[in-house]
Amino acid sequence: MPYAHLVKPGSSVKIKDFDPGEHGGLEKEEADFRRHEMGQKVEQLQELMYAANMNSLLLVLQGSDTSGKDGAIKGILQYVNVQSCRVASFKQPTHLEQSHDFLWRVHQQAPAAGGMTIFNRSHYEDVLVVRVHDLVPKDVWKKRYDQINQFEELLTDSGTIILKFFLNISKEEQERRLLDREADTDKSWKLSVGDWKERELWKEYHKAYADAIEKCSTAKAPWHIVPANHKWYRDLAIMEAIEGALKPYKSIWHDHLKEIGVEAKGELEKYRAAMKAKK
Ligand code: AMP
Ligand code: MG
Repeated sequence: MPYAHLVKPGSSVKIKDFDPGEHGGLEKEEADFRRHEMGQKVEQLQELMYAANMNSLLLVLQGSDTSGKDGAIKGILQYVNVQSCRVASFKQPTHLEQSHDFLWRVHQQAPAAGGMTIFNRSHYEDVLVVRVHDLVPKDVWKKRYDQINQFEELLTDSGTIILKFFLNISKEEQERRLLDREADTDKSWKLSVGDWKERELWKEYHKAYADAIEKCSTAKAPWHIVPANHKWYRDLAIMEAIEGALKPYKSIWHDHLKEIGVEAKGELEKYRAAMKAKK
């Protein structure tokens, strides 16, 4: 059984059916060991993807405040070549962004062939925070699920491999993490009364998440629900999903690189023959 829960297209989702404290019967040490093994495979696969220049990888991270999006990103970056990986964070839209359609700012950040991008929050905020806080009328955000699916289909049709992760922590774990921030002066820069206010809307957010995941988990751009109370399990689950998604491309990328190699060697031979003829 994979560690993260893959949401099958068309299945109905209730967040409370997923246990945030799950750890697959593992202890931290064993989980870290497995993640390291998986991470090394991801490292090689990402290098191949970069070299083959045929596909790109988009990872979407969503979750409540303190759910561990930043920590998960750090964990992924340990195993990828930062030269071909970017992180894009989506905050409240600026005036300029707001004067465009909601996907405008997102599309610009999509990864180019060979590259990978991690979204720290994403276009899903436009059916999450926007819905929970009534930032646009219902008939506007309701249409966005289809619009998101079409947008993601355009990306996958263009060679982008998409994986979406909902980092699922419990309300109690969130409280612990928020109080931790207060107790630790090194974390005080993260303190925000807004986080406590958002927390009061926990149920509304879970409803919005359930709808988004249910409506937008597609075969080519699936959602994964990641048990995230244990940080080490969260990171293992994400790494495993990435490895699983990239692996099927390995032989395609290898074959393509072989072809490129043959072509390049042919050109070198021609060049050398021409040089010899000149002498
Ligand atoms: P943080 O991730 O804590 O830095 O906060 C970023 C904030 O930006 C979160 O409260 C998000 O809900 C908010 N945000 C991101 N995208 C949007 C959006 N499209 N509309 C409104 N708020 C957004
Ligand atoms: Mg925040």
